Amino acid sequence: MIVARTKRELRERLESPRRDGKTIGLVPTMGYLHDGHLSLLRAARERCDVVVMSLFVNPAQFAPGEDLESYPRDESRDLELAESIGVDVVFAPPVEEVYPEGYATTVEVGGGLTDVLDGAPERRGPGHFRGVTTVVAKLFNIVSPDVAYFGQKDAQQAVVIRRMARDLDFTVDIEVLPTVREPDGLAMSSRNAYLGPEERERALALSRALRAAESAAASGETRAEAVLAAARAELERAGVEAEYVEACDAETLAPAASLNGGRVLIAVAAQVGPARLIDNTVIGG
Ligand code: AMP
Repeated sequence: MIVARTKRELRERLESPRRDGKTIGLVPTMGYLHDGHLSLLRAARERCDVVVMSLFVNPAQFAPGEDLESYPRDESRDLELAESIGVDVVFAPPVEEVYPEGYATTVEVGGGLTDVLDGAPERRGPGHFRGVTTVVAKLFNIVSPDVAYFGQKDAQQAVVIRRMARDLDFTVDIEVLPTVREPDGLAMSSRNAYLGPEERERALALSRALRAAESAAASGETRAEAVLAAARAELERAGVEAEYVEACDAETLAPAASLNGGRVLIAVAAQVGPARLIDNTVIGG
């Protein structure tokens, strides 16, 4: 496994496999790897000849006052884990390599995908997704992967990236893999490291809320409001104040009033102690 710190090193390493027609898989991460990341790396290892993992805490997707400075980092452990899966190249650039002096270009997806849910102005805001799509577009240009892997845990991000790839004619195949959970249901997240034992217990309310929504739907409830009420009740019971619990079309992210209209994304976000957590499930379709 090699660790590339510059775009040039990375491109040089990929030159010969690309010439030989090898398939290249890319797994973008911000590091502090957990089993969710590893599931993406394993999928890439199975399908692709060359696996590239990027390891970059992208300042552009953090708003002022968010946790950019405190975001958990442990590069040597990440490199060990990546190597154990058989990653070929880790691209771990310094910030100046990605955003050099005078950097002035962004990529922004519109169409109502980035100013709802996490992107609503009173939440993380559309600037969050602008940061994500800008860095992912750059990674697609630097790596030119055949396949890129993302997690359903960040459902809105996956929808936004698919749209960007389609709209900007990236030829990469976007694979979105299921959310990996702790045995008790908590969705794995690097930010779970912020949780103390009591907060860790309360954080379980997010996945319980989603299971309650699924049960309501399974027992025949089709009104989104009623399904969301079941989810909210679980959060309230645990004393977790949701930032949002919403139902929307899983592809367009338009609000869904009914579960009859195809795949509906039920998404939840809540601050639990120092950690802002998100989780989701898709019902129907
Ligand atoms: P991050 O390092 O948090 O930016 O995540 C890197 C990639 O891993 C993104 O595509 C995430 O959606 C994905 N990911 C994060 N947590 C999980 C999880 N629990 N299960 C599956 N994928 C995940």
